[in-house]
Amino acid sequence: MAQLTLKNVYKRYDNQEKKLFRKKKINDFAVKDVSYVCEDGEFIGILGPSGCGKSTTLRMIAGLETITAGDMYIGDVRINDLHPKDRNIGLAFEDYALYPPLNVYDNLAFNMRAKKKSEEEIRKAIDYVAPLMKIDDLLDMKPPALSGGQKQRVNIARAIVRRPGLLLLDEPLSHLDGKMRQQLRQEIKRMHHEIKCTTIIVTHDQMEAMSLADRIIIMKDGEIQQIGTPLEVYDDPANEFVAGFIGEPPMNLLPSVIIKNQENFMFTFEGSDLQVEVPKKYRDVVKDGMKVTLGVRPVDVLIASEKVKSTPVPVAIYENLGDERRVSVRVGEQLLSMTTTDDVYYEPGQKVQLIFHEERTHLFDPQTGERIRG
Ligand code: ADP
Repeated sequence: MAQLTLKNVYKRYDNQEKKLFRKKKINDFAVKDVSYVCEDGEFIGILGPSGCGKSTTLRMIAGLETITAGDMYIGDVRINDLHPKDRNIGLAFEDYALYPPLNVYDNLAFNMRAKKKSEEEIRKAIDYVAPLMKIDDLLDMKPPALSGGQKQRVNIARAIVRRPGLLLLDEPLSHLDGKMRQQLRQEIKRMHHEIKCTTIIVTHDQMEAMSLADRIIIMKDGEIQQIGTPLEVYDDPANEFVAGFIGEPPMNLLPSVIIKNQENFMFTFEGSDLQVEVPKKYRDVVKDGMKVTLGVRPVDVLIASEKVKSTPVPVAIYENLGDERRVSVRVGEQLLSMTTTDDVYYEPGQKVQLIFHEERTHLFDPQTGERIRG
């Protein structure tokens, strides 16, 4: 078990260094000023779009990339210059890299044999790990005969068989189809619950991060945007990027100008008659004529009774998806969507009045993307 600490870690690849002198662009850093503490036994998900620096971060922790600046510690030990094999880390990457001529047992045993462990010790370790990853029936088989899901189970089993202090998983499920991903996700969760090894998973799939991780680190352009539990990043996004990145279907993010209408503040939208009352909690932070980006999840847009202060607008699209209905209205050039599990039907063109869930309506500064709190 291990606590991992990153302090102001930067990474600039050599070929980016030359560009830096020319353009001095800040995003020439693949990873920029990343700091966090991954607690002993914690499961952390690093989440973000392609190219945001997730793998680079993981590879620096593993010792496969040098660190341009900053410090990394496992426990109290500074690991910046420690050889990868001395970091007590288990690694499982997207590609399986199993040895094809060796059967599964020998693949699992390979690194332990290299460390001169006794056959009895190896047998004991494999007997413990094989049922955990549900590969006990596969031990005599060779990798070419295994399915993608089976190979990835073996890959992860091989990473944990030596009981590392830190387990690093880089997009381990991205080769697999939907059902297999979900199954293996549950097994990784169960395995972590059992061995409680400090674990970091890198993924671009928010469902994977949300379902597996105790805390999620969301990155963009090499920088951390927010660190929080799955619920925190969903309910309380730090900025517009996080708000739009987490959640399916995505949050409605609409440019709006707030106007004062007698005693009430109203959201207005360019190219649309729609006006919706601004939730009361923002009364002290908004003013007449203020530009904001309004963020509200489809599930938090409500179709209201006629008494509310909201302009009736025609339904543009009605979709029945079986377990939920999706209703969209046109707001200028954009659509504002709501979802509900209620058994409702709206004819396209039928007028509805919308309100936004008081506590779950978010405002963002359109210039900086930062959250405006009520
Ligand atoms: P992610 O894992 O989030 O997709 P990466 O960490 O792989 O992102 O990449 C972050 C940035 O670093 C990207 O701009 C990528 O092009 C760049 N990068 C990654 N590996 C190298 C490399 N070996 N040499 C130069 N640039 C690299």
